Amino acid sequence: MKSTIFKIYLVIFIGFNVSLQAQEIHKQSMGLMGSDFDITVVAKDKTQALAYIDTAVEEIYRIEKLISSWKPTSQTSEINRNAGIKPVKVDAELFNLIKRSKAISELTNGAFDISFAAIEKLFSFDGKATTWPTKESIASSVKKIGYQKIILDQKAQTVFLKEQGMRIGFGAIGKGYAADMAKALLKSKGVQAGIINASGDMNAWGKQPDGSSWKIAITNPMDKSNNFGLFDLNRQAVVTSGNYEKFILVDGVRYAHIIDPRTGMPTTGILSVTIFAPKAELADALATSIFVMGDEVGLNLINQLPDVEAIIVKDDGKLSISNNIKINSK
Ligand code: ADP
Ligand code: MG
Repeated sequence: MKSTIFKIYLVIFIGFNVSLQAQEIHKQSMGLMGSDFDITVVAKDKTQALAYIDTAVEEIYRIEKLISSWKPTSQTSEINRNAGIKPVKVDAELFNLIKRSKAISELTNGAFDISFAAIEKLFSFDGKATTWPTKESIASSVKKIGYQKIILDQKAQTVFLKEQGMRIGFGAIGKGYAADMAKALLKSKGVQAGIINASGDMNAWGKQPDGSSWKIAITNPMDKSNNFGLFDLNRQAVVTSGNYEKFILVDGVRYAHIIDPRTGMPTTGILSVTIFAPKAELADALATSIFVMGDEVGLNLINQLPDVEAIIVKDDGKLSISNNIKINSK
């Protein structure tokens, strides 16, 4: 269930006078990977634009088929089914995604962990649940979490989840990865400019036909009239994670659909995190991680990473911002 009150508004400003240019902007919305995607491309006419958009959609379907833990036929599901049983040989693409996910676990001291999924089914984040699962069920699932127990064999290209009951899932990185891949594919086909927006996880390239940059407005979800400013989307990704759509409310406290791998409990204290980074994949993973790390530890990490910036909105509406970001805030 969507709560419009808390929704962060990401508005893309598209130049006018497009008809006077040789190139036109076309945008299409569709449901992909269980989310709303918007794909925008610059092309010479509608026919060409629709062909480009189809190419991007096919690519995103392909990725979903490979990595989704919800599709029983995916290689990810095969890895999960064989937890504690045997290593599974996978495509290089999935192997490398898991390898990069483990590297992000190390970077974030375990805040980001694709093996969080061992506990995923205990919780329901539709906003209707009001109680926790039992302590015993949380304790027994949390024991299965641990990225160190995801065993990769580079030579054999196999993935082995060491213990029975382990599970991996790419909910925190998959949309960012898909946005990066769809962008790279369209660029390789000669598309000069566009935006892949995976429900708030976006990656843009090129310029609008009138020569101006793509711009994005980010507003405070607690106060929509308070605009943080317009940001150029030049050659980079902007990703927002929030607890405004998927959450659990217990004793009046709102918890995000992001789980602390150390405790197995949903996180609280942060309303939304926006990350700017060269790639949507890293931005997506870091946005999720900051919910677990908290704003202080999270910003400390962001400030050490080159070309990565963050805007964190806390539950009380207060902001925490990384060193190199300038925002208008009342
Ligand atoms: P959004 O869906 O708002 O874009 P995120 O990118 O933050 O959210 O991803 C949230 C999803 O990440 C959850 O639904 C879940 O699938 C997964 N997840 C939850 N906790 C963790 C964690 N600690 N590490 C990795 N993935 C997680
Ligand atoms: Mg994420």
